[in-house]
Amino acid sequence: MAIRTILTAPDPRLKKKSRPVGSVDAEVRRLMDDMLETMYEAPGIGLAAPQLGELKRVIVLDIDREDVKTGPLFMANPEIVEASDEDATYEEGCLSVPEHYSDVARPAKVTVRYLDRDGATREMACEGLLSTCVQHEIDHLDGILFIDHISSLKRNMILRKLLKARKEAERDEAEGKPAKPRSKPKETAAV
Ligand SMILES: [Zn+2]
Repeated sequence: MAIRTILTAPDPRLKKKSRPVGSVDAEVRRLMDDMLETMYEAPGIGLAAPQLGELKRVIVLDIDREDVKTGPLFMANPEIVEASDEDATYEEGCLSVPEHYSDVARPAKVTVRYLDRDGATREMACEGLLSTCVQHEIDHLDGILFIDHISSLKRNMILRKLLKARKEAERDEAEGKPAKPRSKPKETAAV
């Protein structure tokens, strides 16, 4: 297993559509394991392969909150096969959009069909935070970020700030200044 670099917006790779995997082979399992380790280190509760620059339809999740504890979940080629009419709103964040959070409304309940780490087809009914996370991660596979669900005014403001922070970090690095410590993702945010 290895910890890899998580891409941040506005990286063009985060806007691409990922391809399904042919099967869950050793290479896909290695990717899943790297993703889980990278997610734990961040720390986060969900991660999609394109966030590591791998345009494959693979996501990992591990939600450990008071009301939801899933343990590690590995999903290849996940698909939403059923979604409720009723919506739920959570404050979302994203490891690829660091330090920004926003309310996003999505279907409250979904059923997801996927291949697990052994390549077996599974279906899982998701609600609450798990439903939000699964939908957020599957969005990544289609090049969609949570900021694409909010107003363009707010989205553009966030992207400008991210770009400015990246330029400052690059300048500091060029001048040999130590990197600023990363702030911890907000505990209350959904993803
Ligand atoms: Zn995300």
